[in-house]
Amino acid sequence: MKDILDILIIGAGPIGLAAGLEAQREGLSYLIVERGCLVNSIYNYPLNMTFFSTSERLEIGGIPFTSLNAKPTRAEALEYYRRVADSADLNINLFEEVQNLQPEGEGYRIFTSKGEYMARKVVVALGFYGIPNLLHVSGEELPKVRHYYFDPHYYFRQKVLVVGANNSAADAALETWRKGADVTLVVRQPELGSIKYWTKPDLENRIKAGEIKAYFNTSITEIREREVDIQTPEGKLTLENDFVLAMTGYQPDFSFLEKIGVKLSEDQKRYPQYDTESMETNLPGVYLAGVVCGGMDTHVWFIENSREHAVKIVKHIKEELQAEKV
Ligand SMILES: Cc1cc2nc3c(=O)[nH]c(=O)nc-3n(C[C@H](O)[C@H](O)[C@H](O)COP(=O)(O)OP(=O)(O)OC[C@H]3O[C@@H](n4cnc5c(N)ncnc54)[C@H](O)[C@@H]3O)c2cc1C
Repeated sequence: MKDILDILIIGAGPIGLAAGLEAQREGLSYLIVERGCLVNSIYNYPLNMTFFSTSERLEIGGIPFTSLNAKPTRAEALEYYRRVADSADLNINLFEEVQNLQPEGEGYRIFTSKGEYMARKVVVALGFYGIPNLLHVSGEELPKVRHYYFDPHYYFRQKVLVVGANNSAADAALETWRKGADVTLVVRQPELGSIKYWTKPDLENRIKAGEIKAYFNTSITEIREREVDIQTPEGKLTLENDFVLAMTGYQPDFSFLEKIGVKLSEDQKRYPQYDTESMETNLPGVYLAGVVCGGMDTHVWFIENSREHAVKIVKHIKEELQAEKV
């Protein structure tokens, strides 16, 4: 049990780090608690991934991010956020999961996998990359079904079915095809979705040339050891298959938000309740930051446009703490 902190920040993603930088600049005591490694989500992104944002739009705390090309890679982003954490000497506990919090005295008691803390204010910057959106089909539990794609080499000479219509599916399909996989893409919608402007024509051309087979208006209905069934507009098809890459997106940890008492909208979007000016939730002194703010709309907030949450939150907290002292 330690002294009371001004702010405890949950998550050392880019936005949690940005909140730590702001708190430090404002002279507030803070601790960032992260259940994985530093920028754990980015660490788990595909090995060869290139951001759609230019590097200056991924900067936090005004610290310059230079990259060799206009759009930085995953490796460059890891380097950048590591250097930021180190040069600012941010207070971060890694590999420690926040499990719950409850109001107590002038703030909150926070329970983690390694201990307990007291903080006047809490910033929840949980991200969304920990929980995949499931296909909900028979066979999804087989080890050949992956919800995270990392490296194409693994799929050399394998029959790979990629499910999804957006960036992650496009990257997985193109990369595995280029490294010798036999790739089929299954898209529930009538056309491809939102894909980086330099990737989309590449995928369209591979599909036109028949190099990557694509089925639109189609869903996967069953997965077995050596085969998959898909439902196309022309009827059911059975395809030989070694691996399924289900690139169907991810969702924030709603059960954690509900457990601590953050209210969620009752529709399928599950928008968490917060004030858009201060970012304070229905729990006084508990703030939301980053991609978690969008509920199931995980494409609404990203690093580029949610860096500012850190600034707004710390400004509000500073005012509140000053007012409490008066
Ligand atoms: C493939 C891909 C490409 C992308 N490209 C871009 C891009 O080009 N530009 C852009 O702006 N955005 C991009 N995004 C989106 C961007 O990466 C996310 O919006 C960004 O990571 C959000 O930052 P965050 O800090 O809110 O969440 P995250 O980076 O997800 O960080 C949340 C952190 O909280 C930790 N955590 C979760 N639960 C707990 C707990 N209970 N206790 C402790 N720690 C916990 C997680 O381990 C994680 O490290 C991309 C996303 C993906 C998937």
